[in-house]
Amino acid sequence: MAEAELRSRVSEGMAGSRADLERLVRIPSVSLTGFNQASAREAASAVVEILKACGFVNARLVEVPHGNPMVFGDISGPPRSATVLLYSHYDVQPPGPEDTWRTPAFEPAERNGRLYGRGAADDKSGIITHAGALKALGGKPPLNVKIVIEGEEETESHLDSYVLDNPDAFQADVMIVGDTGNWKTGEPTLTTTLRGLAVCQVEVRTLAGPAHSGVFGGPAPDALVVLIRLLSGLHDRKGSCAVAGLSAGKWDGLDFSEEAYRETAGVLPGVPLVGEGTVSDRLWASPSVTVLGLDAPEVEGAPNAIIPSARAVVSMRVPPGTDAEVARGLLAEHLRASAPWGIGVSITEGQSGPPFMAKTDGVAYTAAKKALRQAYGKEAVLMGQGGSIPLVNNLATIAPQAEIILWGAADGECAMHSANESVDLGELERCILTEALLLKYLSAKKGRKWRS
Ligand SMILES: [Zn+2]
Repeated sequence: MAEAELRSRVSEGMAGSRADLERLVRIPSVSLTGFNQASAREAASAVVEILKACGFVNARLVEVPHGNPMVFGDISGPPRSATVLLYSHYDVQPPGPEDTWRTPAFEPAERNGRLYGRGAADDKSGIITHAGALKALGGKPPLNVKIVIEGEEETESHLDSYVLDNPDAFQADVMIVGDTGNWKTGEPTLTTTLRGLAVCQVEVRTLAGPAHSGVFGGPAPDALVVLIRLLSGLHDRKGSCAVAGLSAGKWDGLDFSEEAYRETAGVLPGVPLVGEGTVSDRLWASPSVTVLGLDAPEVEGAPNAIIPSARAVVSMRVPPGTDAEVARGLLAEHLRASAPWGIGVSITEGQSGPPFMAKTDGVAYTAAKKALRQAYGKEAVLMGQGGSIPLVNNLATIAPQAEIILWGAADGECAMHSANESVDLGELERCILTEALLLKYLSAKKGRKWRS
């Protein structure tokens, strides 16, 4: 199919793609514990129907032990053609407080060319991108295509281990992970690295129970004060991560401007940024530490008492090139060593997930850059992502030969995981076209670099 024809088929298909996206957004498929898992199943079934209509005639639910089902489908291309695996997820983050949304989270609404609703970007737009590309190709891609739509990306994923247990089902020459996006609307972007994660919980216990601060205040250490002093050792004077044994790195792709960062992150006017190096260095090539939560008495009604115990959960984003478990050990050691006045603290090492670095010198990567150039009319930039997608590492483990491409319809304004999440409908169309073009370009490579 000629490029011009693909282009017009994508644009003709947009009304249907948008309707499919709205249908998915209406289903509150929050995967976190405590939310109704029947909605997840309902979303999975809707995905099956959408994929079937686009050409994945064998799309079906596949049960993942102890978790939400994944949707799987495959289409065989011509003999000896390459195999591409497409990935997205149908589960979403909780909507958060209702009054923070301009229009209800699960009622899709369009404003200024953007479609608002939970999951409109993350990651129901990814499902629609894969489906739309297949639809534009008339459901007959010029190579083998597998599709995997997960139901637990936003929570503890059971697909992660399922992939390791069933490596044959996920084999591919190229994987397209449609779960990232462009740094800015209309700016084609490939995500080449993901930071990993390392979490520790720290608990301080100093007294058998609350003690009257008038009667006992002075000699007895207040557990909350101990915790605050300990946590203050996580950053240096400039605000960089100070965990001993870890160092900051350099990013040589997109130079993310301070202005764009401030705007997308919502940093308030007058608040300075912290740390050293460029914004990209700090975001994608260096560790960062955050105190995610802290147990302490509420300000309202706080008694006049020395606090006997306090705890906090500390999360570190681990840059590519650093082992996440080693980083977690260093974080635990740093927390222990930062406790003041010789007070012992107890540290529980929590979750960890490795960082990821894509191979960017293969034929599929070159083809992906060409597809982006054709769809957007400009060269793609390379960026990292501060967050992790643990499944990507497992896919890379079971298919080390595969080139993994990370992109998507999200952009700097999409407010993933926050209120008023949205996707730009023009960006969605460009993404669908990019993906259809890539599938076309990859078919031309058959028999050369890939195994038959
Ligand atoms: Zn996502």
